[in-house]
Amino acid sequence: MIIDIHGHYTTAPKALEDWRNRQIAGIKDPSVMPKVSELKISDDELRASIIENQLKKMQERGSDLTVFSPRASFMAHHIGDFNVSSTWAAICNELCYRVSQLFPDNFIGAAMLPQSPGVGPKTCIPELEKCVKEYGFVAINLNPDPSGGHWTSPPLTDRQWYPIYEKMVELQIPAMIHVSTSCNACFHTTGAHYLNADTTAFMQCVSGDLFKDFPDLKFIIPHGGGAVPYHWGRFRGLAQEMKKPLLEDHVLNNIFFDTCVYHQPGIDLLNTVIPVDNVLFASEMIGAVRGIDPQTGFYYDDTKRYIEASKILTPEEKQQIYEGNARRVYPRLDAALKAKGK
Ligand SMILES: [Zn+2]
Repeated sequence: MIIDIHGHYTTAPKALEDWRNRQIAGIKDPSVMPKVSELKISDDELRASIIENQLKKMQERGSDLTVFSPRASFMAHHIGDFNVSSTWAAICNELCYRVSQLFPDNFIGAAMLPQSPGVGPKTCIPELEKCVKEYGFVAINLNPDPSGGHWTSPPLTDRQWYPIYEKMVELQIPAMIHVSTSCNACFHTTGAHYLNADTTAFMQCVSGDLFKDFPDLKFIIPHGGGAVPYHWGRFRGLAQEMKKPLLEDHVLNNIFFDTCVYHQPGIDLLNTVIPVDNVLFASEMIGAVRGIDPQTGFYYDDTKRYIEASKILTPEEKQQIYEGNARRVYPRLDAALKAKGK
């Protein structure tokens, strides 16, 4: 079985974006704020948006199941206040839930949280619990920078985040550390802000002692870990100077990396540096990079090809990356599969 742990609903019907634009207009002029009930998307529209896009590519490329969350760049936690984020997160999560019900063998949900700059993360817990307990979601996306590129929140090791972590451990769900749109012109959203955040989140964890307090907490750092695998020696050296344990003991029981790296040398570097236990298959399809690589003739984000072509990984290790690690890091995903006899 091939599990892609990183997919977003980037192809939602246009009505969603139209509703969101009206909601944003309603922040300044409450008289135009739309009601949730004014957003109408039929099951047929949802089906069409998936069959022609994600599902088609999954079948072409040969992956079976995608952990599916709302479009990351649309989370835009910096827009409006907590109530705006709360309504928006509920709508986006419900759509992913409906997709998971329409295609139960191919999609299972991960929640976006109703984060808002300056608001304590614990306010996200009701939405988180609803998604896990009522929708059967198996993970969350946690935004380390709800300000959208201005980094006004404390680091992930700060106690402000602990209520979320306590709930994650209680419910046995991991968090993908995933920022949203950059509203800072210095940072391109997917080319800079995402990768900066991946690297930043990792270094925050190296600098702190979060996993002493939460030995069972699990983070997935997406996009291949940003600059982390490439600079592993730097992080090892910094940890040493900070008198931290070896990274294997300090963070690698808790931090995992996905394979959203869009060329063979990058995937090979990831799998040379990072232990196979810490790598999970993902493509982030359909996402940031949608074109075809003229050097290979294949889509950049067809990451399964790079794993298949890897000369570093044994067949058993490839299967671990495709399936075994996901089942271990996402216990609720494993339980949902086992309940279906898979
Ligand atoms: Zn993503």
